[in-house]
Amino acid sequence: MPPDALRSFLPAEPLTWTVTGCAGFIGSNLVEALLSAGHHVVGLDDFSTGYRHNLDDVIGRVGAEATARFTFIEGDIRDLDACRRACEGADVVLHQAALGSVPRSIEDPLSTHAVNVDGFVNMLVAARDAGVGRFVYASSSSVYGDHPGLPKVEAEVGTPLSPYAVSKRTDELYARTFQDHYGLEVIGLRYFNVFGRRQDPSGAYAAVIPKWIGQLLDGDRPMIFGDGETSRDFCYIANVVQANLRAGIAPSDATGTVYNIAYGDRTTLNGLYAAIVQNIEAERPDLTLPEAEYGPFRSGDIRHSLADIGQARARIGYAPTHAAADGLREAISWYLATYASSPSPSASSVG
Ligand code: NAD
Repeated sequence: MPPDALRSFLPAEPLTWTVTGCAGFIGSNLVEALLSAGHHVVGLDDFSTGYRHNLDDVIGRVGAEATARFTFIEGDIRDLDACRRACEGADVVLHQAALGSVPRSIEDPLSTHAVNVDGFVNMLVAARDAGVGRFVYASSSSVYGDHPGLPKVEAEVGTPLSPYAVSKRTDELYARTFQDHYGLEVIGLRYFNVFGRRQDPSGAYAAVIPKWIGQLLDGDRPMIFGDGETSRDFCYIANVVQANLRAGIAPSDATGTVYNIAYGDRTTLNGLYAAIVQNIEAERPDLTLPEAEYGPFRSGDIRHSLADIGQARARIGYAPTHAAADGLREAISWYLATYASSPSPSASSVG
């Protein structure tokens, strides 16, 4: 969403927003949007999965005047003092910092718990003590676990299928408790497979869209886990940015709960692969792209995911602007432009 469109629903008087995980994919896009719309931002990150080059990219895009409204704190959310510094003077917290990835959490549940739960509670305590007006946080569609219902509705969750899902569900329970006991207004956003510019294509835990784009540009053969008919409600980053900003200023009666944030449509992995290939070929007809390989289903993965976004539309005014196909076009253009001069996007994506 362009800065003017964001300004149309944000207050004219600039607010101070704390964005944790600001050097990551979603956090850096939030910082960029807020600075572009004239607001003040305090960012907190420890660079464990985020990058300085993401912050440099934001600074380059928003310019010097906007950058003067940005304060960066390098710190770890497992450190309560760092959380307190980040929350000082904040009107709204957008808490994104976490260790993502279901497979990572299965391999290393302790780290996932320490960051995603202990770090989360630190942020709640820091926000409460600093008198922050609104605490918006990143939850995940993984909390639906084994619940078979489609589309997913907020009130019906199943048993979580991974430590990552447990951590996000635990966060939701803690957040609600902080509203009930201390009056901290909380809103959880259950993101469904977000993608877009600055999402990391490298590493063992990369998300499917950037990973496949990176592999295709490297001349490698992407792997589809299962039969390719697994489906997801892929959500473009512009929609997620809008959801966070709307949640940050939504009326108090919309707080104390969680909302699905997605587009409300689903794409199979086979369909996704075809769309990625088609978009790359449209811009780079010189490239010959391989067929995907098929491998075993991954443990902990949900078979189908599709969100009912009616609650977010009705209560926080969420109105997604990009279907998955629109977002894919923009995202692929960005990856091609960003990595055009490099033969190896996966290798060059670390800063
Ligand atoms: P990301 O890895 O790009 O960003 C996370 C950021 O948090 C990174 O910059 C990392 O350095 C920072 N961080 C991690 N541990 C930290 C710590 N201990 N202290 C301070 N900073 C720390 O991931 P993302 O995709 O931008 O995800 C942002 C949030 O959205 C996460 O909470 C994630 O669980 C959630 N989420 C993402 C998706 C998705 O599809 N990307 C889906 C559902 C939920």
